[in-house]
Amino acid sequence: MQYEISSHKQACMEQYLKAVLEVNKKVNLTRIDSFKQGLLLHIEDSLGGLPEFMDALLGPALDLGSGGGFPGVPLSLAAERPIVLLDSVEKKVKAVRTILSDLNLGSSISAQVGRAEERALKSPSSFSVVVARAVSSLPSLCELASPLLHNDGQLICYKSNEYRDELEQAKAISKKVAMKFVSARELVLSDDVTERTIIVFEKSGEPTVKLPRRPGMAQKRPYK
Ligand code: SAM
Repeated sequence: MQYEISSHKQACMEQYLKAVLEVNKKVNLTRIDSFKQGLLLHIEDSLGGLPEFMDALLGPALDLGSGGGFPGVPLSLAAERPIVLLDSVEKKVKAVRTILSDLNLGSSISAQVGRAEERALKSPSSFSVVVARAVSSLPSLCELASPLLHNDGQLICYKSNEYRDELEQAKAISKKVAMKFVSARELVLSDDVTERTIIVFEKSGEPTVKLPRRPGMAQKRPYK
């Protein structure tokens, strides 16, 4: 389904993008430095996962490895749904927090420092939806998201079109980490070139291994 974005919401997203690009001159938040590219590769790309985000269970949402706030900020604004942005790099989080507060977005979007593994220990099973773009492979993301999600909660991953091998690897550890494959939807952005696949997994039952593992393990030594 196509979702209409009101001109007010679009303006809010563009303001946020402009602020990120400005701050990016001092704090590395994104490799993109032009507004036009940002519109495509940050805002439009982030909104590519909006149908899945809208379909996920209502409840707390988390952007795992949020960096400059993508895809979390556009998704939250478009869906009018609060979100927690979580990133392990403090200076990125502080910069994003300042932007959110300057734009009066801080009441519905919070930026927090920390690793997904630490967050899962502190507040396990506390999210209904986790989104992640450009953070890690699908098997690692399934492992990281599983202890953060409650049963039936969903992980929404943004992947390139070369996702098939990763998807098979993630399916192979699906029982181990209690994350069941739901869907993979391919799309092309408005430049007619950039391909994206939105992949959804769902928390289902209990993992057969103890999660989370030590910080870093899911990404350094993903389960096979
Ligand atoms: N999602 C943003 C985007 O697409 O523009 C940022 C992508 S950036 C390449 C990956 C981010 O994930 C980095 O800022 C990194 O600090 C964060 N990250 C990686 N592993 C993480 C973990 N286990 N917990 C929290 N943040 C993590």
